[in-house]
Amino acid sequence: MNWLLPRLLVAVVAMAAGAAVGWLVGHSFDTPGWGMLTGAAIAIVTVATIDTLRGVRIIAWLQGAQDEDAPRDPGFWGELAYRVERALRQRESATAAEQARLAQFRDAMEASPNGVLMLSAAEQIDWCNSVAAAHFGLDPLRDRHQPVTNLVRAPAFVAYLQAGVFREPVSFESRGATISVLARSYGDGMRLVLSQDVTERERADSMRRDFVANVSHEIRTPLTVLAGFIETMGTLPLTEVERRRVLTLMGEQTLRMQRLVTDLLTLAQLEGSPRPASDRWLPLAPLLRQVEADARSLSAGRHRIALAGASDLQIAGAETELHSALSNLANNAVRYTPTDGRIDIAWRVLADGSGEFSVKDTGPGIEREHLPRLTERFYRVDGSRSRETGGTGLGLSIVKHVVQRHGGELDIQSEPGRGSTFRLVFPAVRLRSVATAQRGRESRDVVEAAETARAEPR
Ligand code: ADP
Repeated sequence: MNWLLPRLLVAVVAMAAGAAVGWLVGHSFDTPGWGMLTGAAIAIVTVATIDTLRGVRIIAWLQGAQDEDAPRDPGFWGELAYRVERALRQRESATAAEQARLAQFRDAMEASPNGVLMLSAAEQIDWCNSVAAAHFGLDPLRDRHQPVTNLVRAPAFVAYLQAGVFREPVSFESRGATISVLARSYGDGMRLVLSQDVTERERADSMRRDFVANVSHEIRTPLTVLAGFIETMGTLPLTEVERRRVLTLMGEQTLRMQRLVTDLLTLAQLEGSPRPASDRWLPLAPLLRQVEADARSLSAGRHRIALAGASDLQIAGAETELHSALSNLANNAVRYTPTDGRIDIAWRVLADGSGEFSVKDTGPGIEREHLPRLTERFYRVDGSRSRETGGTGLGLSIVKHVVQRHGGELDIQSEPGRGSTFRLVFPAVRLRSVATAQRGRESRDVVEAAETARAEPR
């Protein structure tokens, strides 16, 4: 609507009315001309005052918080107040929507598994999520607007930011973890820094590298020996005795590689297969007797071997795995204990219902510092003894894997000169007595019989 004409009209009508009234009043005093002028002036001043008052109310409302509605005046001022208020409210709701979007965006960045750190052009912290705060040791609120390099002083990180070449990520140590950082420039010199905790990945990588190096080393020695013998046989005329001797030695090296490959395959299978079922029960006594028999045959009468506590229990798990774990411990005792030593294989149920398999020997014992590393692959305390007796350095890692897959633990007690005791503790849920099993079977039979009877036609 065009407000000019109505506004002029109001002014003109007011002036005319004022002039008319002034003319009438002035007539009584014989000054109709002055009366007209005064009347018109009073009318204009009145219109201007009312306008000013309405304008002042709107300015007062604009100067406030605009929480209340704008003044609702009729006409021009009412329209003006309404339009200003509408524009303001629209802007307010647009800002609220923007803020909600920003909050949503920050929530998304907060939910990111990676650290997100936003830096200003002056490398001050604008914002970071809690993952980045943990990676860099920052306080998201307190450290806002602080120069990041004052707080994160790792030389690799500082140099990376300063170089400003962000093609590759950079890693550095922070608070006992390895953090990998990748930066990107955006906006007007601002930087987005993404961080990731790669401690586990680095550890796995280094383990894999060590493992490959170890396997290659273990295979290279027998292979070199074999290659040497093959060359000898091909180039030198050997007597029958020498030929036999060479073939025996070649056989030994082949066996060594076979053992290694078997153990490697066992480990790979243990790592790649699901946990053994907890409802496949097998009797413990024959398993223990088999372990004892294996040890005796390996010892060939050189040791005193005893088995105690053969029980009527059943254990839930994978028979081949359990046999391999228990035998490994008993065989190690035989291999590392000198002739005439004593080896005690025992089974007992502990107070909390868990079951303990132990192998105690009177062998050389092991220094304390080696104990935590014994289950590492290829870790050997006595390398030559291990190899002489056909060891691959993988036995105890297999044992540890097997017992953990069955929910149990491996414990090693040993002191140099005082022998060693290797214990496997299996949880109570994986053990049951034969009597319980019998009762379970009987009740199952009863249920089955009842169900069959019900199903039979009468
Ligand atoms: P290996 O095939 O070399 O025996 P294991 O993983 O079975 O590999 O054992 C790791 C190392 O632990 C062995 O090399 C040996 O030095 C030490 N060890 C294992 N069992 C005994 C034991 N009963 N007495 C002394 N040392 C042992």
